[in-house]
Amino acid sequence: MNSLKILRDECLSCRKCEIGGVMVEGNFVSNVFSNMNPDARIMVVGQNPGSREVEKGEPFVGPSGAFFDRAVNEILGMSRSDFYVSNVVRCYTPNNRPPHLSEKDNCRYFLDREIAILNPKVIVALGAPAFKQLTGLSGIMKHCGEMIFSPRYGVYVMPLLHPSPRNTNDRGRRELFYDGLRRLKKVLDENEVGGSA
Ligand code: URA
Repeated sequence: MNSLKILRDECLSCRKCEIGGVMVEGNFVSNVFSNMNPDARIMVVGQNPGSREVEKGEPFVGPSGAFFDRAVNEILGMSRSDFYVSNVVRCYTPNNRPPHLSEKDNCRYFLDREIAILNPKVIVALGAPAFKQLTGLSGIMKHCGEMIFSPRYGVYVMPLLHPSPRNTNDRGRRELFYDGLRRLKKVLDENEVGGSA
Protein backbone atom coordinates (compact mmCIF):
# COMPACT_ATOMS: atom_id res chain seq x y z
CA MET A 1 0.00 0.00 0.00
CA ASN A 2 2.89 2.33 0.76
CA SER A 3 4.21 2.28 -2.78
CA LEU A 4 0.71 3.02 -4.09
CA LYS A 5 0.38 5.96 -1.71
CA ILE A 6 3.72 7.33 -2.84
CA LEU A 7 2.63 6.96 -6.47
CA ARG A 8 -0.70 8.65 -5.73
CA ASP A 9 1.10 11.63 -4.17
CA GLU A 10 3.37 11.84 -7.23
CA CYS A 11 0.34 11.73 -9.49
CA LEU A 12 -1.58 14.39 -7.59
CA SER A 13 1.35 16.78 -7.69
CA CYS A 14 2.26 16.05 -11.34
CA ARG A 15 2.42 19.16 -13.53
CA LYS A 16 4.21 17.68 -16.55
CA CYS A 17 1.39 18.70 -18.91
CA GLU A 18 -0.53 21.92 -18.94
CA ILE A 19 -3.69 20.00 -17.91
CA GLY A 20 -2.06 19.09 -14.57
CA GLY A 21 -2.94 21.06 -11.45
CA VAL A 22 -5.67 23.07 -13.18
CA MET A 23 -8.70 24.14 -11.13
CA VAL A 24 -11.90 22.62 -12.57
CA GLU A 25 -15.18 24.42 -11.93
CA GLY A 26 -13.24 26.71 -9.61
CA ASN A 27 -12.88 24.19 -6.79
CA PHE A 28 -11.26 20.92 -7.74
CA VAL A 29 -7.76 20.10 -8.94
CA SER A 30 -7.72 18.29 -12.30
CA ASN A 31 -5.51 15.36 -11.20
CA VAL A 32 -7.26 12.09 -10.22
CA PHE A 33 -5.31 8.94 -9.37
CA SER A 34 -7.16 5.62 -8.81
CA ASN A 35 -9.58 4.00 -6.41
CA MET A 36 -6.56 2.74 -4.44
CA ASN A 37 -7.58 -0.88 -4.06
CA PRO A 38 -4.29 -2.76 -3.55
CA ASP A 39 -5.95 -6.15 -3.07
CA ALA A 40 -7.81 -6.23 -6.39
CA ARG A 41 -6.85 -8.98 -8.85
CA ILE A 42 -8.61 -7.28 -11.76
CA MET A 43 -7.55 -3.88 -13.01
CA VAL A 44 -9.83 -1.59 -15.01
CA VAL A 45 -8.35 1.21 -17.12
CA GLY A 46 -10.39 4.00 -18.71
CA GLN A 47 -9.44 7.12 -20.65
CA ASN A 48 -9.27 10.10 -18.28
CA PRO A 49 -11.41 11.64 -15.53
CA GLY A 50 -14.42 13.85 -16.21
CA SER A 51 -15.76 16.61 -13.98
CA ARG A 52 -17.57 14.24 -11.58
CA GLU A 53 -14.37 12.28 -11.08
CA VAL A 54 -12.42 15.45 -10.35
CA GLU A 55 -15.05 16.49 -7.83
CA LYS A 56 -14.90 13.15 -6.01
CA GLY A 57 -11.19 12.48 -6.58
CA GLU A 58 -11.92 8.99 -7.89
CA PRO A 59 -12.16 7.48 -11.40
CA PHE A 60 -15.46 6.35 -12.91
CA VAL A 61 -17.90 7.86 -10.45
CA GLY A 62 -19.97 9.74 -13.08
CA PRO A 63 -22.52 8.36 -15.57
CA SER A 64 -20.03 5.94 -17.20
CA GLY A 65 -19.06 4.60 -13.80
CA ALA A 66 -22.69 4.20 -12.73
CA PHE A 67 -23.40 2.12 -15.84
CA PHE A 68 -20.25 0.06 -15.27
CA ASP A 69 -21.15 -0.57 -11.60
CA ARG A 70 -24.65 -1.78 -12.50
CA ALA A 71 -23.42 -4.01 -15.33
CA VAL A 72 -20.64 -5.72 -13.33
CA ASN A 73 -23.04 -6.24 -10.48
CA GLU A 74 -25.63 -7.85 -12.76
CA ILE A 75 -23.27 -9.93 -14.88
CA LEU A 76 -20.25 -10.64 -12.69
CA GLY A 77 -21.92 -10.35 -9.28
CA MET A 78 -19.12 -8.00 -8.31
CA SER A 79 -18.83 -4.41 -7.14
CA ARG A 80 -16.27 -1.69 -7.76
CA SER A 81 -14.49 -2.66 -4.54
CA ASP A 82 -13.44 -5.84 -6.40
CA PHE A 83 -11.51 -3.82 -8.98
CA TYR A 84 -8.54 -1.53 -9.12
CA VAL A 85 -9.89 1.35 -11.22
CA SER A 86 -7.60 3.71 -13.04
CA ASN A 87 -7.12 5.72 -16.26
CA VAL A 88 -4.63 6.19 -19.11
CA VAL A 89 -4.46 9.94 -18.43
CA ARG A 90 -4.93 11.17 -14.87
CA CYS A 91 -6.16 14.68 -15.53
CA TYR A 92 -9.37 16.29 -16.64
CA THR A 93 -9.04 17.77 -20.13
CA PRO A 94 -10.67 21.12 -21.06
CA ASN A 95 -14.26 20.51 -22.26
CA ASN A 96 -13.57 16.79 -21.94
CA ARG A 97 -11.58 16.71 -25.16
CA PRO A 98 -9.73 13.46 -25.91
CA PRO A 99 -6.26 13.47 -24.34
CA HIS A 100 -3.32 14.32 -26.61
CA LEU A 101 -0.66 11.75 -27.40
CA SER A 102 1.91 13.73 -25.39
CA GLU A 103 -0.42 13.57 -22.37
CA LYS A 104 -0.80 9.81 -22.72
CA ASP A 105 2.97 9.47 -23.02
CA ASN A 106 3.61 11.63 -19.98
CA CYS A 107 1.09 9.62 -17.94
CA ARG A 108 2.38 6.20 -18.93
CA TYR A 109 4.73 6.22 -15.96
CA PHE A 110 1.77 5.91 -13.59
CA LEU A 111 0.23 3.00 -15.50
CA ASP A 112 3.58 1.20 -15.67
CA ARG A 113 4.15 1.61 -11.94
CA GLU A 114 0.60 0.59 -11.00
CA ILE A 115 0.76 -2.59 -13.03
CA ALA A 116 4.15 -3.44 -11.52
CA ILE A 117 2.88 -2.84 -7.98
CA LEU A 118 -0.49 -4.54 -8.40
CA ASN A 119 0.49 -7.45 -10.66
CA PRO A 120 -3.15 -7.94 -11.76
CA LYS A 121 -4.43 -11.26 -13.16
CA VAL A 122 -6.26 -9.47 -15.96
CA ILE A 123 -6.71 -5.89 -17.13
CA VAL A 124 -9.98 -4.66 -18.58
CA ALA A 125 -9.37 -1.84 -21.08
CA LEU A 126 -12.41 0.41 -21.29
CA GLY A 127 -12.35 2.10 -24.68
CA ALA A 128 -9.91 2.47 -27.56
CA PRO A 129 -7.31 4.70 -25.84
CA ALA A 130 -6.87 2.25 -22.96
CA PHE A 131 -6.74 -0.70 -25.38
CA LYS A 132 -4.07 1.07 -27.43
CA GLN A 133 -2.01 2.10 -24.42
CA LEU A 134 -2.03 -1.40 -22.95
CA THR A 135 -1.52 -3.50 -26.09
CA GLY A 136 -0.43 -1.13 -28.88
CA LEU A 137 -3.44 -2.32 -30.88
CA SER A 138 -6.36 -0.52 -32.51
CA GLY A 139 -9.73 -1.88 -33.61
CA ILE A 140 -11.65 -2.15 -30.37
CA MET A 141 -14.93 -3.02 -32.14
CA LYS A 142 -13.28 -6.08 -33.62
CA HIS A 143 -11.41 -7.15 -30.49
CA CYS A 144 -14.08 -6.36 -27.91
CA GLY A 145 -14.30 -9.25 -25.40
CA GLU A 146 -11.12 -11.03 -26.59
CA MET A 147 -8.27 -11.91 -24.24
CA ILE A 148 -5.14 -10.35 -25.70
CA PHE A 149 -1.69 -10.81 -24.22
CA SER A 150 0.25 -7.61 -23.70
CA PRO A 151 3.97 -8.36 -24.15
CA ARG A 152 4.85 -4.98 -22.66
CA TYR A 153 3.05 -5.69 -19.39
CA GLY A 154 3.13 -9.50 -19.40
CA VAL A 155 -0.59 -9.70 -18.66
CA TYR A 156 -3.81 -10.48 -20.51
CA VAL A 157 -5.94 -7.51 -21.48
CA MET A 158 -9.64 -7.68 -22.33
CA PRO A 159 -10.90 -4.65 -24.28
CA LEU A 160 -14.50 -3.59 -23.79
CA LEU A 161 -16.31 -0.61 -25.26
CA HIS A 162 -16.15 2.44 -23.03
CA PRO A 163 -19.35 2.55 -20.91
CA SER A 164 -19.98 6.21 -21.80
CA PRO A 165 -23.57 7.28 -22.48
CA ARG A 166 -22.57 7.69 -26.13
CA ASN A 167 -22.02 3.93 -26.30
CA THR A 168 -24.50 2.65 -23.76
CA ASN A 169 -27.42 4.62 -25.21
CA ASP A 170 -26.91 2.70 -28.44
CA ARG A 171 -28.55 -0.72 -28.26
CA GLY A 172 -25.98 -2.53 -30.41
CA ARG A 173 -23.01 -1.08 -28.57
CA ARG A 174 -24.61 -1.72 -25.20
CA GLU A 175 -25.09 -5.37 -26.16
CA LEU A 176 -21.46 -5.57 -27.28
CA PHE A 177 -20.43 -4.29 -23.87
CA TYR A 178 -22.63 -6.86 -22.08
CA ASP A 179 -21.33 -9.66 -24.33
CA GLY A 180 -17.78 -8.66 -23.43
CA LEU A 181 -18.61 -8.78 -19.73
CA ARG A 182 -20.13 -12.25 -20.14
CA ARG A 183 -16.90 -13.39 -21.78
CA LEU A 184 -14.96 -11.84 -18.92
CA LYS A 185 -17.10 -13.77 -16.44
CA LYS A 186 -16.26 -17.00 -18.24
CA VAL A 187 -12.54 -16.22 -18.14
CA LEU A 188 -12.65 -15.27 -14.45
CA ASP A 189 -14.64 -18.41 -13.56
CA GLU A 190 -12.35 -20.70 -15.56
CA ASN A 191 -9.25 -19.21 -13.97
CA GLU A 192 -10.80 -18.89 -10.54
CA VAL A 193 -10.12 -15.18 -10.40
CA GLY A 194 -12.31 -13.57 -7.79
CA GLY A 195 -12.54 -10.02 -6.53
CA SER A 196 -10.20 -8.53 -3.97
CA ALA A 197 -7.87 -10.97 -2.19
N1 URA B 1 -14.34 8.09 -18.33
C1 URA B 1 -13.10 7.56 -18.18
O1 URA B 1 -12.51 7.07 -19.13
N2 URA B 1 -12.56 7.60 -16.99
C2 URA B 1 -13.16 8.11 -15.92
O2 URA B 1 -12.59 8.08 -14.84
C3 URA B 1 -14.46 8.63 -16.10
C4 URA B 1 -15.02 8.61 -17.31
